[in-house]
Amino acid sequence: MDGSFTAAVVVAADGAESVVRRAIGLGPNRDDQLAIAIRGYAPALPGTDGVQVILTTEQRWPAYAWSFPLGDGRANVGYGELVSGGVNREGLLAGLQRLLPGVEARELKAHRLPLSTGRPRQRDGRVLLAGDAASLINPLTGEGIFYAVLSGALAGGAAVRGGDAGAVYRRALHLRLGRHLRHSSTASWASRLPTVMDAVFRAAGDDQRVFDDVVDLGLADGRLTARTLTAAARRLR
Ligand SMILES: Cc1cc2nc3c(=O)[nH]c(=O)nc-3n(C[C@H](O)[C@H](O)[C@H](O)COP(=O)(O)OP(=O)(O)OC[C@H]3O[C@@H](n4cnc5c(N)ncnc54)[C@H](O)[C@@H]3O)c2cc1C
Repeated sequence: MDGSFTAAVVVAADGAESVVRRAIGLGPNRDDQLAIAIRGYAPALPGTDGVQVILTTEQRWPAYAWSFPLGDGRANVGYGELVSGGVNREGLLAGLQRLLPGVEARELKAHRLPLSTGRPRQRDGRVLLAGDAASLINPLTGEGIFYAVLSGALAGGAAVRGGDAGAVYRRALHLRLGRHLRHSSTASWASRLPTVMDAVFRAAGDDQRVFDDVVDLGLADGRLTARTLTAAARRLR
């Protein structure tokens, strides 16, 4: 909606290309802290009813394709990789075909994903950045909905609490996600070596508790646990 509004606090939840973020002078993530992914809809893969398929590749790693069945015979399919690799639309489509051969996807759209390895420091003051506008996407998985909902709720709480909303929100984010963000950044750095990722996948395949720890780290607010590190180290080849 166009027009002018006056408010005590602005919560900028306007996504990866945030206008508000730019208006306060914060630039975008660096290309190696930014992913790009293309998503569309295709007939579900045979025999994958209720099964979420994720395929990774050493070629152009870190990159992966997915096929998530919707329950109506179709699947949400897509492919993503880092912007720093210089990929374009044709490259994304080629990646999708390489990992999901023969997939006939429609309604394909691509979008950028600002990873939390490049998040700006939340400033004091009246502008609070949440979700993709704050670069809160998990650098291991490209998952951002959990962080968008969580940070939006924390920003809303800070906006009504009184005092310096920016400082209150920064502390709340740090308390709730600080440790996780450090661990997921470290894991993302280590995961650039495909041998490390292979070892983690093997460890997760062998032990449900490691699997659960890795899922928590990649999709929510988990840590890089001693259990995961030990199990993966044993499986390094
Ligand atoms: C292809 C792809 C697949 C993904 N898959 C997953 C997944 O499976 N799981 C997951 O957790 N995450 C996934 N993500 C990431 C996830 O989509 C985002 O992290 C999440 O949507 C961020 O939420 P947000 O509210 O911060 O931003 P958005 O969802 O982008 O919402 C921002 C909103 O602001 C609006 N807006 C922007 N500018 C303006 C303006 N100037 N005026 C008015 N409105 C404006 C936009 O229209 C939009 O509605 C995926 C991303 C991509 C690109």
